[in-house]
Amino acid sequence: MWCVRLWLVALAVAIAATPSHAQDRINVVASFSILSDFARNVGGDRVNVTSLVGPNGDVHVYTPPPQDAKKIAEARLVIINGLGLEGWLPRLLQSSGSKAPIITATKGIAPLKLGSDADPHAWQSVADAKIYVANIRDALVQADPADAGYFREHAEHYLAELNALDREVRSAVAQIPPERRKVISTHDAFGYFAKEYGVEFIAPLGVSTETEPSARDIAGIIGQIKAEKIPAVFLENISDDRLIRRIAAETGAKVGGTLYSDSLTDEKGPAPTYIDMVRHNIKALTSALDHQ
Ligand code: ZN
Repeated sequence: MWCVRLWLVALAVAIAATPSHAQDRINVVASFSILSDFARNVGGDRVNVTSLVGPNGDVHVYTPPPQDAKKIAEARLVIINGLGLEGWLPRLLQSSGSKAPIITATKGIAPLKLGSDADPHAWQSVADAKIYVANIRDALVQADPADAGYFREHAEHYLAELNALDREVRSAVAQIPPERRKVISTHDAFGYFAKEYGVEFIAPLGVSTETEPSARDIAGIIGQIKAEKIPAVFLENISDDRLIRRIAAETGAKVGGTLYSDSLTDEKGPAPTYIDMVRHNIKALTSALDHQ
């Protein structure tokens, strides 16, 4: 009895001592799951983060449901990738009537080009992901100056984790013999990873998942796999896997597993956070490429 009473007192003290931020959390809307993970890491318990495109969703071909306009109308801050990724966004913003600031998380990143299109997938380079996080930190500080110190501290901690992750990627790639640093992925989501870490990616779908590859494109890739002895092809969580399986069957390249490109998984999947996603991808790449 005494023990229970003491416990209740302790509980009451704990509740009184916990600063209640539930009511002054700011609503943040991110266009897709990778941005919302960054915002949660910086914003901690001072933000409510909502992702429009959910786990394993494809942000290239998203059709916003009517409730998205409401989510944006209630947001204090909207975070987007930019570089042409969210083609569906301008109409949604307009229909929401929102006056919330819109921050482009890729601001300051030198965009890669594929033909005339900008390649939007800059988050696949951890070095660039750090620029996203700094932009999100600055936007949160502007949106909620009272919590500036909190946001800066969380960002600093998370940026240190990203520095460690960047070193992990470099040492993982260093294990792969240089002539085997070539893979096929479904769509061109790894250009920034390729540039930063020196693994070549070839993809039948281009930078968006919107267009189907032609028979000629596929024949070209099959020829290239054979000629360059590309060891492995990869599936992606956001794309149909039939094309990649067909290419594997026709070339004898092995299916090296699934790469998480444009979307995180839910809690039960292998990539519920950005850091988990990058670790999963480098493990899949090294285990498919580092042995003959
Ligand atoms: Zn993509």
